[in-house]
Amino acid sequence: MSEKIRVKDIGKNPDQNLTTVDPAKLIPLPPPYDKIEDQPEWKKLSEGALESMVCNLDGFVALSLPKPENKKEEKKYVDQFVEGLKKLLSKENNWTFLQPLMLSLEYCVGCQTCSDACHIYEAGGENEIYRPTYRSEAFRRLVNRYAKPGGKFTAALNGADVDLNWTTITRLAELAYRCNLCRRCAQVCPIGVDNGLITHEIRKLFSQELGRYRPPARCRFFHRDERYRGKGQHRIHR
Ligand code: SF4
Ligand code: SF4
Repeated sequence: MSEKIRVKDIGKNPDQNLTTVDPAKLIPLPPPYDKIEDQPEWKKLSEGALESMVCNLDGFVALSLPKPENKKEEKKYVDQFVEGLKKLLSKENNWTFLQPLMLSLEYCVGCQTCSDACHIYEAGGENEIYRPTYRSEAFRRLVNRYAKPGGKFTAALNGADVDLNWTTITRLAELAYRCNLCRRCAQVCPIGVDNGLITHEIRKLFSQELGRYRPPARCRFFHRDERYRGKGQHRIHR
């Protein structure tokens, strides 16, 4: 079991990682890769990446989010995030997913059955932040406080105590890529909460409102290959 990281810690201490990944705690690979001492060390992020990108979740980067130039830019992105939250909760903008999203946000009882079914949590050394419920709960608290009418006043009563800041939203964006949307968690949840869907909606928010997403591997291949640059559907990934 890893150290206890609380949901409300997600927006704190931007100058250090929220957690670190210890290779010794990861689930062993099959032979001949099962002896960790025989494997090469993980490549560390370069100085350039550390300076220019957001790397303060777990020391890895999926989204390559650039750091904002100044406080004004930071605020612009945070405001866009709140706009995105409100859109996710509106019928006009999200009629296809609104109902299952709201059901999943309203009814979790915290039993953690989903964590036992999640391969990311299990293989990732049972780190608190890789629980299906960690990102969902952070998102739930942001929705309750900043997207629901009167949320700021009721925050103290309903436990919606996550700070809304640049650190929170960028860690949440990275966390949405510590899940592969398999929805095993949803299959075992006794009341049908779909943490995979919540992750999907978080990704959608960052993609649509902030233009940040990670293209599928096939598209990244086409993006890298000059012959396919700017052709057909691959143009959208430039
Ligand atoms: S199994 Fe369902 S109710 Fe239990 S913690 Fe996970 S999402 Fe919540
Ligand atoms: S959908 Fe995500 S959180 Fe749920 S089991 Fe799969 S990887 Fe884990």
